[in-house]
Amino acid sequence: MKGLKEMNRRRWSYLALAIAALILIGVCFWPGAKPAPNVDKASKDLSNYELSLSLDTVTQTLSGRLRLDYVNGAMAQMDTLYFHLYPNAFAKAETAPFPENEWSLAYPKGFSPGGIKISRVTAGGQPVVYAVEGEINTNLKVVLPAVLTHGERITLEMDYIVQLPHCEGRFGYGTDTYNLANCYPIACVYDENGWNRDPYTAVGDPFYSDMANYRVIFSAPESMVVAATGDLTKEESRQGVTIRTYEAKAVRDYAIVGSEKFQRLERRVGKTTVYAYGFTGENLERALDAGAAALRIYNRLFATYPYRQLSVVEANFYIGGMEFPNLVMIDTSLYGPGNEDWLEMVVAHEVAHQWWYQLVGNNEVKEPWLDEALTQASTVLYFGERYGKAREEVAYDAYLRSSFERIKLGKNFFPSGSQVVDRPITEFQNSAEYDSIVYGKGGMMVLDLRDQMGEKKFYRFLGSYFDQNVFGNATEADFVAAAREATGQNWDPVIQDWLKNDLE
Ligand SMILES: [Zn+2]
Repeated sequence: MKGLKEMNRRRWSYLALAIAALILIGVCFWPGAKPAPNVDKASKDLSNYELSLSLDTVTQTLSGRLRLDYVNGAMAQMDTLYFHLYPNAFAKAETAPFPENEWSLAYPKGFSPGGIKISRVTAGGQPVVYAVEGEINTNLKVVLPAVLTHGERITLEMDYIVQLPHCEGRFGYGTDTYNLANCYPIACVYDENGWNRDPYTAVGDPFYSDMANYRVIFSAPESMVVAATGDLTKEESRQGVTIRTYEAKAVRDYAIVGSEKFQRLERRVGKTTVYAYGFTGENLERALDAGAAALRIYNRLFATYPYRQLSVVEANFYIGGMEFPNLVMIDTSLYGPGNEDWLEMVVAHEVAHQWWYQLVGNNEVKEPWLDEALTQASTVLYFGERYGKAREEVAYDAYLRSSFERIKLGKNFFPSGSQVVDRPITEFQNSAEYDSIVYGKGGMMVLDLRDQMGEKKFYRFLGSYFDQNVFGNATEADFVAAAREATGQNWDPVIQDWLKNDLE
C-alpha cells in the first residue's frame, strides 16, 4: 500500500508538472498574453516632475510649485528650455481654443478668463532669466545658467498661480467638475525640428510631450472626490482639506478631475483596477463595463497596459471625450438615456489612446492622424472583438465610412474640400472636417491595411510599431517602417495613397 501511494504521489506530481508546463506555455504563447512594457526600466531615463497643487474653490485658483529634474534627452546642447503655458490661451475671448459656434457650450455662463502667472523660476538653485513668450503667451523661456549636454540633468523650480476659467473644456470648472488638465508648465519637446512651441488651438488635440515621472501632491476641499493620473500613495485630511499624493512613472502628461458629486465603481482587469467616476449612477456601470472590456481587448490585441489603474471619468466636457494618461474624460451628456452606444464608443476610443498617444506618443499638432486614425480603427476592432463581425461592420460604417462621407455635404460644412489626411491640425478648417478626414478616412486606411495584410501580419505590424516606439514619440516614417519590417513588404505606396490622395 505504501508503494502504491508513493506511485500515485509520483504520478500526481508528474501530472502537476505537466499542468504547470502547459500553463507556462499558455502564458507565453497564448495570443491573449502580450507582455506589458517595462515602466520601471523606462522611468530611469526620464525627467521627474514634482508638482504641489492647491485648489481654492472660492477664488477658483490653483497655487502651484513645480520642482523639475529635467534631463536633456535630445542629441543637442541646450542653453535655453521652453515650456508650454497652456492656460494663457484662455486669457482672452479671442484666443480661447474653441470654435466660435461652440462658444455657448464651452462657456455656458459667458466668457470667463483663465491664465497662469509665473512668480519665481530657479535653475540649479539660482534665480534665472525667464520670459513669457509666444503669440498668445503660451510659452515660458528659461535661460539656463550653463549649457546642458545630452543626458545631463538640471533641477528647476517654479512658483505659479493658475486662474481657472468657468469653462467646460479640458481646463476649468464646470457645473459639477473641476477639469484640471494642461494646468502646469510642461516642457516643450525638442526634436529634429528644434523646439516645438505650438500654441493651443481650437481644432484637434494640439499636444506633444515627452514621457516623464510625476509625483503630485494635490490639496483640495475634503468634500471633493478626486480622479487622477497615477497611483494614490498617501491621503490625509486636516481642517477641511484633503492632501493626496500620487505617483506616476512614465506618463506623458498629468490630469486631475474633481467633483463633490462623484460616486465610484471599480473592476479588476489583470493587474489593473478600472474605476468609473460619475454623478447620478445612470449608465455608470455601462461606462465601467466598456472601460474594462476595452482594456481587456487592447491588452490582448496590442500590449498589456502596464499601469495599476485607469479611470473613466464623467465630466462637464462638452467636446465628448478626451484622453490623458491613466484617465479619460467623458462628457456627462453621454451618460443620459438613449446615448448608450455613443458612451460605449467614446469610452472605447479614449481607452485606445492609452496605447496610441500615451504609451506610443506622437506630435499631435504636426501628424494628428497618427494617433487618431489608429485609435478610431482600434475602436472598430473593439466592437468586432467584443460582439462579432456583424457589429464590427456596423461600427465601421458608423464611425469611419459615414464619418468620411460627410465630405459629400459640401463646402459649407467642409470648407477646404481637401481629402488629405496627412496635414497638421492648423490646416483643418473646422472640427467637422478634421473628424471626417483624420478619424474617418484615417481609420479606414488602418483597417484597409488589416484587410490587405491579413490579421496575423497586421497585428505583427501593430506590435512592432508599439514595441519600437513605446515610451517615445513616433512619426509617419516609424509607422511605415514597422509595416515593412513586420510583413517584409513595402506598404508605403498604399499608406501614401490613403494619406495624400482623394478616395473618389
Ligand atoms: Zn481621439
